[in-house]
Amino acid sequence: MTPPGRAARSRAPHSRAAVILGSGIWHVIRERRDLQLDGGTVRETPFGPSRPVFEAVLPGGRKVLLLTRHGETGYQVGAWAVNYRANLWALKDLGTDHLLATCSCGAIDPRLTVGTFIVPHDILDKTTRRAKTFFESSGLGILRHGEPFCPSLRGALGEALASASARHRLGGVYACTDGPRLETPAEIRALAGEGATLVGMTLAPEFALARELEMCYAALAWVVNPAEGVVERPYRPDVLFEGMATADELAEGDRAAAAIPGVLAAALDRVTPARPCYCRRAMQRYKQRGDIGEDFRTWV
Ligand SMILES: [Zn+2]
Repeated sequence: MTPPGRAARSRAPHSRAAVILGSGIWHVIRERRDLQLDGGTVRETPFGPSRPVFEAVLPGGRKVLLLTRHGETGYQVGAWAVNYRANLWALKDLGTDHLLATCSCGAIDPRLTVGTFIVPHDILDKTTRRAKTFFESSGLGILRHGEPFCPSLRGALGEALASASARHRLGGVYACTDGPRLETPAEIRALAGEGATLVGMTLAPEFALARELEMCYAALAWVVNPAEGVVERPYRPDVLFEGMATADELAEGDRAAAAIPGVLAAALDRVTPARPCYCRRAMQRYKQRGDIGEDFRTWV
């Protein structure tokens, strides 16, 4: 790949689909020759600069917009410091209406083994220090979240995972914590009691911000370690997460990550431009009563 650029202006997008890549996937970006990226463009938004937005070609030739939450070469931006609003605004501004996000996660459900893919259907937002709405003072954004992740995109991800014969589970409750520290055993037990099956630090407030901009949004999570206390593991100061995953599990997680570009491409091939879900009409009530117009750029 080429290093991210800093151009002030970007070219027109080739696609109305975008992917956000999370942690644990940089080696895939670097090593996969069937994932091509251009130089990347930082977008200026009302909420500050976005991460560089790349025009990417996924395996099979599909063109998408691509953005990494944490950086292109490593964990440069912590989940608690990601400018989620700038990133989503930039993708919307480039015409995105289908947005797939990846995230590595810890398994609260002990039946979820490392390397398993999950398409979450619900979320517990435990974050407290993040900007959670584009509408800070206008009174907009009181939106139903009976299905916080787009059902159409979840279905497409499920079909793609099945066709790839990838070990996966459809449905899961993702608990999003603030970080940077990892969770305590008591916190994991509490999250389990509240119904969470997996835990991570990134999907909130991303899911809600996507809804506010009427984008379809769904996540492809994969397990990289058991959550704290789910499995007894000795403390190791010299390895990732201080030993929460074994060496074999770390390798298994990497193998799963390598499958992600192909799964994303196959999922987007199953998406229909018609968008049968309700995501594209999330702000309809506000439009109907004249609070806002059709152009989202005028909403804030
Ligand atoms: Zn949708």
